[in-house]
Amino acid sequence: MGRVISISNQKGGVGKTTTAVNLAASLAVAEKRVLLVDFDPQGNATSGFGLEKDPDRPTSYEMLIGLRRLDEVLIQTEVPYLQLIPADNRLAGAEIELVDQPSREYRLSQALEGQTDRWDFILLDTPPSLGLLAVNALTAARSVLIPIQCEFYALEGLSQLLNTIRVVQQGLNRDLRVEGVLLTMFDRRLRLSQQVADEAREYFSDAVYESIIPRNVTLGESPSFGRPVILHDVQSRGAQAYLELAQEVIRREPTSVG
Ligand code: ATP
Ligand code: MG
Repeated sequence: MGRVISISNQKGGVGKTTTAVNLAASLAVAEKRVLLVDFDPQGNATSGFGLEKDPDRPTSYEMLIGLRRLDEVLIQTEVPYLQLIPADNRLAGAEIELVDQPSREYRLSQALEGQTDRWDFILLDTPPSLGLLAVNALTAARSVLIPIQCEFYALEGLSQLLNTIRVVQQGLNRDLRVEGVLLTMFDRRLRLSQQVADEAREYFSDAVYESIIPRNVTLGESPSFGRPVILHDVQSRGAQAYLELAQEVIRREPTSVG
């Protein structure tokens, strides 16, 4: 069965999309079959693969509301083993359209049903909110990967996320696990980065990945080239960090929520 992982943190700009795109690509070069679902109306994972906006191209939105099947929205990326379901701002409408629909939290789960064993990993890139899209992702996922930016207030708001995870576990998805907590944009010159890392380890202990993603210019600029960093500059520290993370994700089993 494919591991469905929701990359979640309602805080904006913590590295969710960067992690989704680059972990997906790094798993794929390890010859794991990967599906990356862009589940954010911002469509950053989609543009991260160089896809221009195109109103004629079906997206995760059409799949979510049942207008298209999964196979009709899939795109093969230039990375072998890596397929993408794109998104754009049409997806923002889903939050409103689904609000009074039955089983609205299960829409993504239903769209993926019976399909997940076609891939080894299915990564869901989610928006910076805890709304219906985020809840759909947590309901469809087997586990959640939480990126934490090594900056001030990094841990603030995490209790809200953990709370939402618990609510989802109680009603919608009993088996939801924490895949891991990922420290992102780590700057070894800053005491603050180290402090956040220490605090995260204190709080989440072994759930924190040993791999740490450094703040790295190449990582920040690779979306503007429309490619994952391993295709842009595989020698960069950012690329190496995500390749290392992929190995850790492959080795590791998700844990229960502490
Ligand atoms: P949002 O909540 O808006 O979806 P996000 O959590 O997906 O944001 P990203 O888009 O991945 O966050 O990252 C925010 C910004 O920081 C982007 O411009 C990205 O290129 C940059 N960035 C992410 N990770 C790194 C890094 N390790 N080093 C340098 N820049 C980074
Ligand atoms: Mg994002």
